[in-house]
Amino acid sequence: KPMEGRITDIGPRHYEEFYPAVIKKNKGQWDYHEIVKPGVLKHAALSGDVVYTVRVGGARLMSVTHVREICEIADKHCGGHLRFTTRNNVEFMVETEEALNGLIADLESRKFAGGSYKFPIGGTGACVSNIVHTQGYVHCHTPATDASGPVKAVMDEMFEYFQSMTLPAMVRISLACCLNMCGAVHCSDIGIVGIHRKPPIVEHDRLDNICEIPLAISACPTGAIKPTKVEIDGKKVNSVAVNASRCMYCGNCYTMCPAMPLASGEGDGIVLMVGGKVSNRISMPKFSKVVVAYIPNEPPRWPTLTKMIKHIVEVYAKDANKYERLGEWAERIGWEKFFELCDLEFSHHCIDDFRDPAYYTWRQSTQFKF
Ligand code: SF4
Ligand code: SF4
Repeated sequence: KPMEGRITDIGPRHYEEFYPAVIKKNKGQWDYHEIVKPGVLKHAALSGDVVYTVRVGGARLMSVTHVREICEIADKHCGGHLRFTTRNNVEFMVETEEALNGLIADLESRKFAGGSYKFPIGGTGACVSNIVHTQGYVHCHTPATDASGPVKAVMDEMFEYFQSMTLPAMVRISLACCLNMCGAVHCSDIGIVGIHRKPPIVEHDRLDNICEIPLAISACPTGAIKPTKVEIDGKKVNSVAVNASRCMYCGNCYTMCPAMPLASGEGDGIVLMVGGKVSNRISMPKFSKVVVAYIPNEPPRWPTLTKMIKHIVEVYAKDANKYERLGEWAERIGWEKFFELCDLEFSHHCIDDFRDPAYYTWRQSTQFKF
């Protein structure tokens, strides 16, 4: 229920105002739901009401015209209602089979000039749904890789799995463009993580003018930055020095001080992690593990990355048991076998020496990830 006396002129309006009437009426009274076919769910309420949801892939960057078209579809078929899912898909809701068929026909008829779907239906069940990702080169200051580019390139390769439900279980792919990780790569079946591999460059000539030196020093989680004085044109100026061996390339200092950039064409790239999940089904939730320590950035189509991911998914699709998630499959066959089947090279970067960041900051064991 909307809260009494809620102040509505600050922040967003209460979400209940946006419910379709049938959702509002049956709230908390749903009996079951089932996947009728890929991308289409039927939700049945105890009252006898039925709602069908049709899920379509959302584009990573949406133009105003695209958003307007989504709104037009919602106006035409769904009384103006739609929802975005947690994986950036768009869901349209209708209440009868007739309306469902009309909606699907309309969505399928909307295509780009080249013939590809504008609103591909899918993303349910044992599929590769849309990629959850961070912001990339366009919106953030510390990315080590892009989001839009790799996400588009990988999803183009995964498209047949988006539209079908032929995999052993769902495969959730996520991308974070730096280790600050505002994505969900740590617990995804496949995690794509941007990494920097070089310490920040210190721009002594402007650092003291545009940065608060104490802030830059205190921003460093490893204590790698200290104050120093350098000589420029015969004059001593205040600056900082970075102890490269202590730096973990997190970019925190750059957040505080724009004169400490750490983006580098050579140093930046991608780590591939696999086997994480949040579900309790079959086995406990798991963190993803590093399986490829470095893939270079290869815009615009990231061919090495997309090829590796496609191969992993194809081998998993062929070899895993029904309902087994990627990490469960790797654990059953053994990580050593996983590396072998997926043609991945095992390196010392894949050694599992990470236990608890709050207490351990150096190698604690000789346990391997396989
Ligand atoms: Fe920015 Fe890192 Fe988040 Fe990417 S993951 S948007 S670079 S903080
Ligand atoms: Fe410290 Fe991170 Fe900057 Fe390295 S990148 S100097 S670890 S704040």
